[in-house]
Amino acid sequence: MRPGRKAGGGRRQAAKPRSARSRRSPSPASRLPSPAFRIGHGYDIHRLEPGAGVTLGGVRIDCPYRVVAHSDGDVLIHALCDALLGAAGLGDIGRWFPDSDARFKDADSRELLRTVVRELRTRRWLPVNADVTLIAEAPRVAPHVMAMRERLAAELGVDAGAVNVKATTAEGLGAVGRGEGIAAHAVTVITRR
Ligand SMILES: [Zn+2]
Repeated sequence: MRPGRKAGGGRRQAAKPRSARSRRSPSPASRLPSPAFRIGHGYDIHRLEPGAGVTLGGVRIDCPYRVVAHSDGDVLIHALCDALLGAAGLGDIGRWFPDSDARFKDADSRELLRTVVRELRTRRWLPVNADVTLIAEAPRVAPHVMAMRERLAAELGVDAGAVNVKATTAEGLGAVGRGEGIAAHAVTVITRR
């Protein structure tokens, strides 16, 4: 069936009221009601330097480098915070926790996530689920994925099954592929409380 054509053949005169309606300018009363669900996306990237380990998804992982960041450099949590803020229309993590603010020096990113979730709750938004992707040549995160899911889920107030953490490499391409940095994407859905 071609788009816009009714099954069984719509009568021609039906087109007239439709086009008359479309000419009307939308009024607030005709807008759709506030949706029960919203989606958000977040992205973060940090440089790496020689060090004693990284924190990802709230889990400390021993490895021969560290993340260069004002806070603990947890890219997974930073991407997730941005996704949540984006879904709620609340800007981004840089606006809420500026690099220039000494309070956030070496901050535990779980505290930042806790604050974001609290701000959402006060606006009647609750996280439903999150899907987070790490892009890094190393470290190997597979042994830590379950612990990350549980920690992130605890902050979001959802079951661990509603938080997916996956990891991929950059196939040796670009800065991340050369091991100079570590990046993450996050997508989340929130709902009305
Ligand atoms: Zn970050």
